[in-house]
Amino acid sequence: MTKPVILTGLRANNDLHIGNYFGALLPLIDMAKNKAEDYQVNLMLADLHSFTTPINHAELQPQIQATLRNYVAAGLPLDNPSVRIFRQSYVPAHSELTWILDCFTGMGEMNRMTQFKDKSAKLHEDRINVGLFNYPVLMACDVLLYGAEYVPVGDDQSQHLEFMRDIADRMNSQFNQELFVIPRAVKEQHEFFGKDQGLRIKDLQDPTKKMSKSDESGKGIVFLGDNPDEAAKKVMGATTDSVGAVRYDLEKQPGISNLLQIHALLSNEPLPKVIEHHEGQERYGDLKQEVADQVKEFLNDFKERLANVDDAQLMAKLEADEKQMNGVANATLLKVQKAVGLRA
Ligand code: ATP
Ligand code: MG
Repeated sequence: MTKPVILTGLRANNDLHIGNYFGALLPLIDMAKNKAEDYQVNLMLADLHSFTTPINHAELQPQIQATLRNYVAAGLPLDNPSVRIFRQSYVPAHSELTWILDCFTGMGEMNRMTQFKDKSAKLHEDRINVGLFNYPVLMACDVLLYGAEYVPVGDDQSQHLEFMRDIADRMNSQFNQELFVIPRAVKEQHEFFGKDQGLRIKDLQDPTKKMSKSDESGKGIVFLGDNPDEAAKKVMGATTDSVGAVRYDLEKQPGISNLLQIHALLSNEPLPKVIEHHEGQERYGDLKQEVADQVKEFLNDFKERLANVDDAQLMAKLEADEKQMNGVANATLLKVQKAVGLRA
């Protein structure tokens, strides 16, 4: 019997930051380790999704390599056949199926996507591309090609998951056969993965917004590839408040609360314990210094783990997995090609 499939992807549009690390990378690796016994876990490096918004293309290739190495340094197992990693564009069926499903997707359906509205609102009109508009179709193909039932989705992706289910169901009905496995509904996804995707590390300069890798200045962001001393300085320069006493209060003291959160994650201690230890302290500089030291230590340690990544082993794993993924994806694609009349 084949195992149920989990599919998850990560874009490679910039270096990752500590928010991505604690909010996405570590949970993903835990999931890969915990579920691989009973599930097939496919981790996709979503390179085709990387330039739906403008990027520096000279940096894409090194960025892809760096992202993959970050996964491994963060603990992704390379020796488990139930955990596969692959680069999306190395499986051409993704692009091929996208074209076909584009022709079964209504303009109105895509027009309703709130993420498109949000993202395009931030761009000048001549920089909004068709790829940004129809990337939910590509995303549907990413999942449907492998018959994946489980896809960890943040709230911002719920609408896209619903679309995947709709198009899969529509194709199955129209061609009167099970072309696609229909992914589970949003609610079931949350039950499966645990809805604790709420972690949001805030920007150090502006703690009212989340740390985001596409942020222009990068001053409030601790990137995994930052020079450890420079990163420590970013922490020392973090925006706080004028209350004058440490308290965990996301509304009134977002900067201090963020530092306490980062402190807890880096020391691998429960947040309440860290809060209890620091609550009431009047010198913010002490807390900042502690967190700055921790950040420095974490980045130095991560550098060492990166240096130990076996690139040859990583490439061999990628290539072997990509071969497997092509096999699975092409089988699904062929069924669809036959159904729509492209193949006999
Ligand atoms: P971008 O600015 O390009 O959107 P991002 O930093 O928001 O970059 P994403 O690629 O959108 O990163 O998200 C990658 C993963 O990291 C997602 O699972 C997302 O939920 C998680 N993530 C992003 N930012 C944070 C954050 N500040 N704290 C915790 N998790 C985060
Ligand atoms: Mg984002």
